[in-house]
Amino acid sequence: MNDKEFLKNYIGIGILLVLSVFLTGCGKKNSNTGSGSSSKEYREGFSVSEISDDLFLRMKRGNTYKEDCIVPREDLRYLLVLHKDLEGNIHQGEMVVHKLIAEDVLEIFEKLYDAGYPIERMVLPDNYLADDEIMMRDNNSSSFNFRFISHTNKISKHGLGMAVDINTLYNPYHKIVTNEDGSTEEVIEPATGEPYLDRTREFDYKIEKDDLCYNLFIEKGFEWGGDWTDRKDYQHFELPTDITEEYSEKYTK
Ligand SMILES: [Zn+2]
Repeated sequence: MNDKEFLKNYIGIGILLVLSVFLTGCGKKNSNTGSGSSSKEYREGFSVSEISDDLFLRMKRGNTYKEDCIVPREDLRYLLVLHKDLEGNIHQGEMVVHKLIAEDVLEIFEKLYDAGYPIERMVLPDNYLADDEIMMRDNNSSSFNFRFISHTNKISKHGLGMAVDINTLYNPYHKIVTNEDGSTEEVIEPATGEPYLDRTREFDYKIEKDDLCYNLFIEKGFEWGGDWTDRKDYQHFELPTDITEEYSEKYTK
């Protein structure tokens, strides 16, 4: 190869390199404008992704994706979000939700983080082997945990990943159950949340009607369990029943 030929090849390779870098750049740009959630860019500490093989294994071992789970893995999303506790310490939170609410819930947590709204803990229920009572006592915030509503083939809203519980110890569930013999029983979950049933008291991590957390969920079309009259579920935000029933029926068939 003489000098002239060498120079020609050299320039050729150079052009090819420039072209490939240019094309790769364009490809990236195009994929970012696509509607697929996996290609969207998020700010640091926040993301929505599909359920990876490792995560799926963790969910099966941890018991949120139980053996009888009929919600397809493809319909669930893994959220990573930042949250601040009461002292302002920043934590990397994680949550599995239904794909239908994934972007909305991410947006809610971004706004709560920016406003410094305190959330103490947000790890998957799998860390507690999907035991609700133990998880709530630990004030964990979460969503997906598969189960049918007792004695039905309907999937519960947490079973669909369409309900979100926040700061669970300080925002307990409360119901007066009437037994067959007419006697009544008080159900409080978690049991250690009893002191926080008095909503006239001031205490940390309390969700109140018209506070930021309440307003952000309501704006996205969720209902608050604290607004219910037959029972109270102060930690709980869920999609309206007409939407969730549609999915529950779709998955049951
Ligand atoms: Zn709940």
